[in-house]
Amino acid sequence: MPDENATPPHALTPDAALRTLATTRQGLAAQEAAERLSRHGPNTLPEAPGRGPLLRFALQFHDALIYVLLGAAALTLVLGHLLDASVILGVVLINATIGFVQEGKAARALDAIRRMIDPTALVLRDGARQRVPAAEIVPGDLVLLEAGDRVPADLRLLRAKSLRLDEAALTGESVPVDKDVAPLAPDTPLAERNCMAWSGTLVAAGAGMGVAVATGSGTELGRISAMLGQVDVLQTPLLRQMSRFARQVTAAILVLSAALLAFAMLVRAQTLDESFMAVVGMAVAAIPEGLPAMLTITLALGVRRMAARHAIIRQLPAVETLGAVAVICTDKTGTLTRNEMVATSLLTPRGEYTAAGTGYAPTGEVTQGNASVLAADHHDLLELVRAGLLCNDAELRQVDGAWRVEGDPMEGALVALAHRAGLDPEPERAVRPRLDEIPFDSAHRFMATLHKGSVVYLKGAPERVLDLCAPDGTDWHARAEALATRGQRVLAFAALPAPAGSLPGPDALPGGARLLGLVGFIDPPRPEALEAVRDARAAGIRVVMITGDHAATAREIARQLGLAEDPVAMTGRELDALDEPALREAASRVTVFARTTPEHKLRLVTALQAAGLTVAMTGDGVNDAPALKRADVGIAMGAKGTEAAKQAADMVLADDNFASIVAAVREGRTVYDNIRKVIRWTLPTNGGQAMTILAAIAVGMTLPITPVQILWVNMVCAVALGTPLAFEPTEPGTMRRPPRPRSEPLLTGELVWRIAFTALLMAGGAFGIFFWARAQGLPLEVARTMVVNGIVVMQIAYLFSVRYVHGTSLTWVGVVGTPAVLAGLAAAITAQLALTYLPPFQLLFETAPLGWREGAIVLGMGVVLLLVVEAEKRLRPGR
Ligand code: ATP
Repeated sequence: MPDENATPPHALTPDAALRTLATTRQGLAAQEAAERLSRHGPNTLPEAPGRGPLLRFALQFHDALIYVLLGAAALTLVLGHLLDASVILGVVLINATIGFVQEGKAARALDAIRRMIDPTALVLRDGARQRVPAAEIVPGDLVLLEAGDRVPADLRLLRAKSLRLDEAALTGESVPVDKDVAPLAPDTPLAERNCMAWSGTLVAAGAGMGVAVATGSGTELGRISAMLGQVDVLQTPLLRQMSRFARQVTAAILVLSAALLAFAMLVRAQTLDESFMAVVGMAVAAIPEGLPAMLTITLALGVRRMAARHAIIRQLPAVETLGAVAVICTDKTGTLTRNEMVATSLLTPRGEYTAAGTGYAPTGEVTQGNASVLAADHHDLLELVRAGLLCNDAELRQVDGAWRVEGDPMEGALVALAHRAGLDPEPERAVRPRLDEIPFDSAHRFMATLHKGSVVYLKGAPERVLDLCAPDGTDWHARAEALATRGQRVLAFAALPAPAGSLPGPDALPGGARLLGLVGFIDPPRPEALEAVRDARAAGIRVVMITGDHAATAREIARQLGLAEDPVAMTGRELDALDEPALREAASRVTVFARTTPEHKLRLVTALQAAGLTVAMTGDGVNDAPALKRADVGIAMGAKGTEAAKQAADMVLADDNFASIVAAVREGRTVYDNIRKVIRWTLPTNGGQAMTILAAIAVGMTLPITPVQILWVNMVCAVALGTPLAFEPTEPGTMRRPPRPRSEPLLTGELVWRIAFTALLMAGGAFGIFFWARAQGLPLEVARTMVVNGIVVMQIAYLFSVRYVHGTSLTWVGVVGTPAVLAGLAAAITAQLALTYLPPFQLLFETAPLGWREGAIVLGMGVVLLLVVEAEKRLRPGR
C-alpha cells in the first residue's frame, strides 16, 4: 500500500484524506481545533507591508499645487528673501503633516471598518455545525459549502451535490467548474483536480463538504499571491473631479503669474525683485493648498458615520452615490421583515390546525378548533410536520437562554413546529436518515430529500410543489392564495415514492406526488422599517420590493409598510412577457415584484437606470451578484448574505436592516453637502485674496497684504476654520429634499456664481479697510495688519453662512453651531491675536498692534459681509 501521507490529497479517497489529517466525519473536537490553530497559525494571508511612513509623508508633496509653492519658495530664496522662503516652506510642511496624520487616521478607520465584514465559514466540529471566523479554520476541519460561499481554505471534497465552483480568483476562468469526490491520478494538473475546492474560489451552485488540507499561506491562493497588497487610495469620482479642477487652477495660476510678472515689469516698470514677490503673493493666495486634505477628511468621516449606522462601505465612490439615490430596490425577507418566522397556519387534506408559541423556543402547542392536539393522534398532521422536520437543514440552539436558528429561519420554525406538535426531532432523524437531496435554490424554489425507507419529501413554493402533485379534488392554489393575502409566507409539502438510486436533478422530478399540506408562516415587518420607508418617501426616494415570495404575501407586507397607498404587484412571469419599453413603463409604476429570480433584478436595475434614476439594490444570494454590480449602489446583507454577494457589493449592511439603507442615504447626502461646503468656503477665500493682489498690481499700488501674510491666512483659516466643515452634522430638512440628479456637476452655475460673488466681496472689503486705514494716516504695517484680520473675520462670517447651504444661517443653532466649529473659531481667534500682539509674530509677519477703533472696523467688515451674503441667499430664487 502506498504511503498515504506522501500522496497528494486529490489522489486519496475521501476516507484516506480524513485519515492523513487525523480527523473523522464528525469533524475535529473543539480542543483539537484550538491546538491546531496555535500550531498552524490563523487561516489568513500575510498582508504586504503598507507604504512606510517616510514614503507616505513624501507623497504628501506629490501634488501640482505644492510643486508651485515649492518652486515659489526656491525662487524667493534665490532672490535672497530668506524669511518669505521659510514661511512658504513652513506652510507646505504644516500642510503635509496635517495630510499625513489625517490620511493615516482615515486609512486605519477604513481598515477597522473592513474587518467588520471578515468572512465566516460553516464547519462541523464535535459532530455539530457551527459558524466560525474563516481565519480560525485549521487543517483537518470539515467545511460545509453552499451556493454563494467563498471557499475558506484548500479542501479535499468529501461530498459534492451539483457543486460548481467559480475559480476565476485563482485561474481567471469564469465558467464554473463541476466538482465531485472521486480520487484522481497524483499528477493531475491543478486546474483539473475536480475533487478539490481551492481557497478564495466561490461556490456558484450546489452544496458540498470538504476537509481542509491547507490553510493560510499554505493554500494555492497563498502560493500565487504570497502578499496581498492593500492599495487604499482614498479616491472617488468627486475627489478626482476636484483634483482635476485643482490642476486646472494651478495651470491658470501659472499663466496668470507669468502675465502678471510681465505686466508689472514692463508696464509698471517695477524691478524684477518687486514684481516677482508680488506675483508669488498672488500665486500663494490663489492656491487652495488645504482643499485636498479637507475633502479626504470629509469623505473618511462620512464612511465612519455610515459604519456607525451599520452600513459598511466597500467601495468609496458609493459614499457619494448614496446621496443621489432615487430608487431603493429591496428584498423583503429579513430586510423589511424581521426574518423571525413562526409557523402558524397548517392546512392538510383532512383539516386545519393552528400552531402557537413564541420564536423558536420548543414550547407551545398545536390546536384544532380550541382543542390542543398532538401529531401522534392525527396522522395528517404527523405527516405534514414530519416532512417539515426532515426536509430541513436547520438546527435550533439555545444561546444565553434564547433559542436561535442555525440555518434558514423558515426551516428553524419548522423544527420548532415539530416540538409544538409533540414530535421529537432526534428519533425521527435517526429512524429516517437522509440519503440524498436536491438543495433549495431560489431559481427552482423547492427542496427535496430522500430518506431511508424510500420516501422523498418535498417542500417549496406552493405553485411549484402543486405542479408535481396529483390532483386531489381540493383547490389548493386558492387555499394558498388565501393564506398569502393575510401576509403569511406559504410553503407546500408533499411526499413521493423514492425513485431507484439517487434523486434526479431539480427539473427531472417525476410528477404524481401526494400533497401533505400547506404551512403559513408569520414574518412581521420590522418596526423601524416602517419609519425608514416613510423617511425615504419624504426624501423623494421610491422604495420597490423585489422578492422571491408570493405576490399576495408581498403585496400585503408592502401595504403594511406603506411602500405605496395601494401597492401594485407584478410577478416574475408577467415581467418575462414585457419588452424593454414596456418594462421601463412598468418599473415606474409597480411597487412589488414578486416570485422573481435574480435575473429579473438585473433587468429591473437596467430599466430603472435607463429612466435616468440612481438605483440602490439589495441582494444576498450568489446569483444576485450581477445585479449588485450593475446597480449604482449594490448593497449586500451582512448577516444572511453570501460571500459572493458581499464581494460584488459597494456596501454591506451589518444588520440586514432596511432602515440602515435609509440612514446611509442620509449620511451620503450629508457628505455631499459637506464636500460642497468645503469647496464653497475655500475657493472664494482664495479667490478674494488673489483678486486683492491682482488689483493692487494692476493699478500699481502698494500691496494691501504681503505674501507671507497671505500664507498665514491660508494656513490658519484652512486648518482651523475649514476642517470643521467636514464635521458638520446633517442639515435639518436634508431628508425632505428630492434626490440630487445624477448628472448634476459639482461646480454648478450657482456655486460658481457664489464663489465669484463672495470673492469680489472679500476683495472689496480688503481694499475698503486698506484705503480707510491709509486715509486715516495709519502706518503701512497697521493697515496691513487690519487687512489680514479683516480677511480672517470675513472668512469666519462666511463660514457661518456656508454652514447652511439650504437655509439661512441667522438662527441660534446656526450661530452656536457644533463643537468642532467653535473649537476652530477659538483657535483662529487665538492665532490672530498672537499675530497682532505678540512681538515675535510682529517681527516675522511685519504686523503691528491694533487699537479699539481699528478692531471695530475689522469686526464690522465681517458683519457687513454676512448680511450681504445672507441677503443674496434670500433674494436668489430657488436657492
Ligand atoms: P426575498 O427575496 O425577499 O428574500 P424570499 O426569501 O421569499 O424573498 P427566496 O429565498 O428566493 O426569496 O424564496 C423564494 C420562495 O422559495 C419562497 O417564497 C418559498 O416559497 C420558497 N422557499 C424559500 N426557502 C425555502 C426552503 N428552504 N425550502 C423550500 N422552499 C423554500
